[in-house]
Amino acid sequence: MSIIIAGGGLAGAAAAAELSRAGVAVTLYERETEPKDKICGEFLSTEAQASLARIGFDVAALDGHLIDRLVFVRGGAEVETALPFTGLGITRKALDEALLKHAAACGAEIIRGQTIANVDDGNGISFDVAGVRLRPDRLFLATGKHELRGVKRIAPVLLDLVGFKMYFRLPAENQAALAHKIALILFADGYAGLQLVEGGMANLCLLTGRARLKQCQGKWPALLAQLCGESPYLAKSLQGAEEVLAQPLSIYRVPYGFIHRTGPNDSERIFRLGDQAAVIPSFTGDGMAIALHSAALAVACVAGGMGAVAYHRRLAKDVTGQIWRAGFLYRAASAHRMQAPVFALMRTFPASLRFAASHTRVPAASRLT
Ligand SMILES: Cc1cc2nc3c(=O)[nH]c(=O)nc-3n(C[C@H](O)[C@H](O)[C@H](O)COP(=O)(O)OP(=O)(O)OC[C@H]3O[C@@H](n4cnc5c(N)ncnc54)[C@H](O)[C@@H]3O)c2cc1C
Repeated sequence: MSIIIAGGGLAGAAAAAELSRAGVAVTLYERETEPKDKICGEFLSTEAQASLARIGFDVAALDGHLIDRLVFVRGGAEVETALPFTGLGITRKALDEALLKHAAACGAEIIRGQTIANVDDGNGISFDVAGVRLRPDRLFLATGKHELRGVKRIAPVLLDLVGFKMYFRLPAENQAALAHKIALILFADGYAGLQLVEGGMANLCLLTGRARLKQCQGKWPALLAQLCGESPYLAKSLQGAEEVLAQPLSIYRVPYGFIHRTGPNDSERIFRLGDQAAVIPSFTGDGMAIALHSAALAVACVAGGMGAVAYHRRLAKDVTGQIWRAGFLYRAASAHRMQAPVFALMRTFPASLRFAASHTRVPAASRLT
């Protein structure tokens, strides 16, 4: 059987590694020629780490920053609690590249700098790569947020938010204050996540409304200054910090809550992986775990002779609960009139933060071992 994977992010690379380990010939096309920064909070959850270990990937070698505490911040108030699991702060540039190398070492053919376009499922799957028409038996669609003509996601955009990510070098004392923590900072129209990654750099990843961005005339320095003005915690954490990237990375119209539902026209040969299959609100830090779970499940389904429809049904069953709960929590915490009571609840009962964190993960019973 010939399998082609479109996209060499976490989902695509993990599937390539696992198929190759099982002796299946696979070719992966990644459109970027070299490692690149990606917009992501870069919190690698414990389930994601377990999925990587399962395919023989040594995540410890990347020297990620261990995170086991959560600070929840609103205005001048904050509540801190232990997380019910241990995450790692790792740059996507390092992680995705290392996983692609791992897939190659497992035997997958990795072709970089080639974009897959125009998928046609009319008479067997076919598509163009560099002007050549390819016709594999199976296509694993792992292009993340990028849509391919012919197989676009039908993904409603419920929250019209704009996302930004910037790395900072922090003064030693700010770095020490943030060590082993992820801070989630609530604003009236969104939130920011702040944590350390390998090498002691801080990742600030935030989502905000378009109205605020317009007010700041679309300018990053003005946006950051405004957010620091509203959050003493953020201002203190970034005091004396230096920006590492020339420009922040940005994203908009993320279809949070999207889950691919099978329909009568669904192909049995096209398997959607990662963000092409399901998108969880990013504050949970579990998008990468879903991407890796989808890869493992797709490979298991192919090995078991199952088609894409059964795979998509099973994946939806595995992740719908956590995505629904994450969406509910996000709406509750972001509705302005609800923020104060939600924050007060979390402050009075820090265990509720741990409860929320544990119930927005890929369920243990669904994970493949
Ligand atoms: C603001 C924000 C913060 C987030 N924070 C976190 C977090 O802290 N923790 C977490 O676990 N998750 C987080 N996520 C979610 C996580 O980033 C995604 O769920 C994850 O990256 C999905 O992996 P993927 O492999 O599906 O896609 P991607 O990682 O996006 O990979 C897709 C790959 O496909 C390639 N590609 C695209 N089109 C083509 C084409 N036509 N041909 C060939 N190659 C192509 C791209 O270059 C890319 O390398 C966050 C998401 C957002 C938006």
